[in-house]
Amino acid sequence: MPAASLIPTEVSGVGVLNSAFEAVVDALRSSLLGFAEPEDTQAFHVPPVISRALLERLGYVDAFPNLLGTLHTFVGDNRRWRAIQAARLADGAPWHSEQTISDVVALPATCYHLYPLVADQTLAQPVTMTAEASCYRHEGSSELGRLRSFRMREIVRIGGPDGVPAWRDEWLARARTWFDGLGLKVSVETATDPFFGDAARMMAPRQRQEELKWELRADLGTGQAQAIASANYHKDHFGGLFDIRMDGGVAHTACAAFGLERIVLALIAAHGESPARWPASVRGSLALGGTAK
Ligand code: ATP
Ligand code: ZN
Repeated sequence: MPAASLIPTEVSGVGVLNSAFEAVVDALRSSLLGFAEPEDTQAFHVPPVISRALLERLGYVDAFPNLLGTLHTFVGDNRRWRAIQAARLADGAPWHSEQTISDVVALPATCYHLYPLVADQTLAQPVTMTAEASCYRHEGSSELGRLRSFRMREIVRIGGPDGVPAWRDEWLARARTWFDGLGLKVSVETATDPFFGDAARMMAPRQRQEELKWELRADLGTGQAQAIASANYHKDHFGGLFDIRMDGGVAHTACAAFGLERIVLALIAAHGESPARWPASVRGSLALGGTAK
């Protein structure tokens, strides 16, 4: 098996993965799905774009305007396009001056596709769902592991206010044990989402105070720990927005989110770039083939 590599492209934060890297991603996915299965988890495939109106309603635009990747298209007619092309040829005018924002945006987090699936419902019992998506965030820096396009596997729980925080804590513990078994030194810390502008002042203190977000951080080889997973409790935020009800009240939600590329980078930083030479215990946990040399 060759070395696992994330091959940079000409734009920062966008990498191509070779098959050895992707084999580890596959192994991580199977392992995670194995933990989720006993909870009678419903699995979905979700696309890498989502309704712009939906993210506006969720407040994503207010909280993270800097991270949102919008999609723009040309909706003019042939005549307009000819005029644009002529201006381009004549004086190098940009081709995109008349692009119009579309009704979809790049998906910034997997779970936004899952809550709407149970919108306007009263749940008889808690629901667990999982999906993985290619997410996009317009990250400003190009440090290793801070990708603009990356995959996020999420497990989401929707239920009553008593059970959901305990579920979140259970997944935090489960993730910690899993990373231990993968030989990763992980710190577990309360965190806040990377709110932008005034949203940081308004939203971050409560999130921190109520310990709604926990991150599991590992060194990716840069000397600075980055989040490889997070466990988040949203209280009744999404339940209210999507009118999901349970136990006579608004449903609460939580999610456990895993950054697949970052986990592979952490494994490479800990054990080297050749998965075939990783410790037998790590290869065993991930059911990776190959023999240690
Ligand atoms: P960070 O603090 O690094 O900005 P975050 O708090 O915004 O991350 P979450 O929204 O909790 O991250 O996303 C869940 C997981 O997705 C993270 O724990 C991480 O593993 C992964 N992730 C988030 N942003 C990126 C990124 N830019 N590149 C690669 N993986 C990412
Ligand atoms: Zn989530």
